[in-house]
Amino acid sequence: RVEVRGVHKSYGSHEVLAGVDLVVEPGTVTVVLGPSGSGKSTLLRSINHLEKVDRGFVALDGELVGYRRRPHRGGERLHELKEQDVLRQRTRFGFVFQAFNLFPHLTALDNVVEAPVSAQGRRRSEVVVEARALLEQVGLAEKAAAYPRQLSGGQQQRVAIARALAMRPAVLLFDEPTSALDPELVGDVLGVIEELARGGTTMIVVTHEIGFARRAADQVVFMDAGRIVEQGPPEQVLDAPQHERTKAFLARVL
Ligand code: ATP
Ligand code: MG
Repeated sequence: RVEVRGVHKSYGSHEVLAGVDLVVEPGTVTVVLGPSGSGKSTLLRSINHLEKVDRGFVALDGELVGYRRRPHRGGERLHELKEQDVLRQRTRFGFVFQAFNLFPHLTALDNVVEAPVSAQGRRRSEVVVEARALLEQVGLAEKAAAYPRQLSGGQQQRVAIARALAMRPAVLLFDEPTSALDPELVGDVLGVIEELARGGTTMIVVTHEIGFARRAADQVVFMDAGRIVEQGPPEQVLDAPQHERTKAFLARVL
């Protein structure tokens, strides 16, 4: 369960997150929509503590992200976790970006195997077996030995998804996973994400793909100017939006 409570984040005088509250239950899919600059990426990056928030907190399964509570004069105070502990916590979040960022000198299989071995200290032989299964799950069993440059953008993104899954994350975070892809490749990647959704993977997906939101989301969140202005099940937010800004946004993307 991901809890975002009263999160504020500014860059200089620009308040990019202006008090965000969000709860994502295990096994559910949250789709985040909103215009460019509304704070969607900053929200995702705050959730896994790539950004430090100025106020509020994020918790995963009841555990604060980036901090721990310490008693202080009858109350409590937040203490920043050590970098090493932050990194360990961050492995509980799988992050899939717009740009796939695969290691160019590693095969698809080795891209998937790398982090569980180096960051989690798992046995390579065991991880290889799991990585092959993950590549099969994303439809790329026959591309295990291919290098990123030999793969299409959609295939690379599916390797990136397998790579994120290999860490056995509690939550997958997607930041516009298909927006860098040629239109004909978008469907395959969305198909893989929908399959994961059906399998009960907890995820937060920033995307402009409204059809995907309709099919896969348990909740849709619409952000504008650093705030969640509307949220609810897809049929409510997408088909009967209450807020003017949501209506205007949907009119533009649909
Ligand atoms: P897009 O749809 O274009 O990806 P977004 O909703 O993801 O937009 P963010 O990337 O979260 O928006 O950015 C929100 C605002 O914060 C933008 O105005 C952006 O310019 C600003 N911003 C983001 N990162 C930084 C940074 N490191 N330093 C200063 N300003 C930043
Ligand atoms: Mg963004």
